[in-house]
Amino acid sequence: MSIAGGLENALLDARRKRCGCVQLFVANQRQWRHPPLTEEQIEVFHRTRQSARLDPVIAHSSYLINPAAPDADIYKRGVAALADEYDRCGRLGIDYLVFHPGSHKGSGLQKGILRVVEAIKKVLDKHDNPCRLLVETTAGQGDSVGCRFEHLAEILGRVKSPDRLGVCLDTCHVFAAGYELRTKGGCKQTFKIFDDIVGCENLKVIHANDTKTDFNSGVDRHEHIGKGKLGREAFRNLLADRRLRKLPFILETPKGKSPGGRDYDMLNLAMLRRLAR
Ligand SMILES: [Zn+2]
Repeated sequence: MSIAGGLENALLDARRKRCGCVQLFVANQRQWRHPPLTEEQIEVFHRTRQSARLDPVIAHSSYLINPAAPDADIYKRGVAALADEYDRCGRLGIDYLVFHPGSHKGSGLQKGILRVVEAIKKVLDKHDNPCRLLVETTAGQGDSVGCRFEHLAEILGRVKSPDRLGVCLDTCHVFAAGYELRTKGGCKQTFKIFDDIVGCENLKVIHANDTKTDFNSGVDRHEHIGKGKLGREAFRNLLADRRLRKLPFILETPKGKSPGGRDYDMLNLAMLRRLAR
């Protein structure tokens, strides 16, 4: 949800659309520097959250941040920005901060993974707060880290902070990375692999997105639920899994209104709820 006009507007919009949980940015995602949060902003956010009864409240980090970057300046700037966002989340009482593990830019996967591990440790060391960092699965575009469950397992294993780190799984990204979800058997197999390698107990959030791109394409293009290559069946499969249906599902589908004038968020929510039944 958009934070235009104030962070609390994301919560109010979510409540208006009858969401149970919400994801927002905690800073302008296209800028590196932000003025610090004021006491008043923090208080309004806490008050609005209480009345909106949203649980959990999730933040998504800026797309500018690349914690796997080989360039020292870009890396340093990214870690500082992630630490700042994490501090903001702590002050705002946000439950999870989702971030992309980024791209190693051709410098080698293993080096990229180690830089992500260092970045996470720096952020967690700098600010002691109860917000949990979540590494998001990626589609495998370019030299991205995080498109194989093994990458995530290695990051979690090396950071060794199971209470402060977890995983966010994006349905569009894992499908683009070559994990099947469209059939009952395929979906079951994907989560068996996930459980064996990463552990389902580390999975805290689902980004529920359909996709415009093909299986194993490596390309990340979100689509409305049921309208893309994943289709309704994939989400029915996900929501039939008792472990998964308890998790917060976040839509990152296109915004705006349908040709019939209906709000796309409402349509996608209604579709997911229908498939959950
Ligand atoms: Zn996502």
